[in-house]
Amino acid sequence: MELTSRQEIIVEIVKESGPITGEQIAERLSLTRATLRPDLAILTMAGYLDARPRVGYFYTGKSGNQMLAEKVKNITVNEYQSRPVVVQESASVYDAICTMFLEDVGTLFVVDKHITLVGVLSRKDLLRASLGKQALESIPVSIIMTRMPNITVCKQDDLIIEVANKLIEKQIDGLPIVVEVEYGSRFEVVGRITKTNITALLVDLANDEVI
Ligand code: ADP
Repeated sequence: MELTSRQEIIVEIVKESGPITGEQIAERLSLTRATLRPDLAILTMAGYLDARPRVGYFYTGKSGNQMLAEKVKNITVNEYQSRPVVVQESASVYDAICTMFLEDVGTLFVVDKHITLVGVLSRKDLLRASLGKQALESIPVSIIMTRMPNITVCKQDDLIIEVANKLIEKQIDGLPIVVEVEYGSRFEVVGRITKTNITALLVDLANDEVI
């Protein structure tokens, strides 16, 4: 299909600046939106451009991939978080195992009496502790947990992609979402983000359900 010179210019504008609204394209060409409407319809039908409601036109040659990457890089932790499950540092390994089963989670966060984050307990931490001969009721979780300052944390407005990178890099299943109570030293746990939440994001992306 032969493009008119105006259609070629429109494609160039969208290639450079997409996603861009019809209104903005019209402005660049000093034309009205109504004048451009047939050109945009032809370019969209022919597959040169694609249009998304509330986003605008984008050049399909620029690939859905690039659009998808941009979308993913804007999603923050608070959009996919779960509630945290915590135990007190004085709790026993036995109690922690019960909590893990009852709450159906893979990671517990350990807090002190001021609800400050002091540790993390994974399934394997608890399994390891169970291998010994000692009674599990008599071992406090504070002995076996991974403790501060070695805990990787995130905040609610961090990007999910940063969290995913940390999970891969540190080879862990989840991160506590924290609020800093005292600069750099005291954190309160307000949520949890795990590989499961990130899998949910993947499913939403595949179903095109991410806004
Ligand atoms: P599992 O041990 O059940 O496979 P993880 O891979 O999440 O679960 O945990 C591996 C180790 O990393 C455990 O010793 C755990 O205490 C520790 N860990 C888990 N989450 C964190 C975190 N956010 N920061 C630091 N250490 C963590």
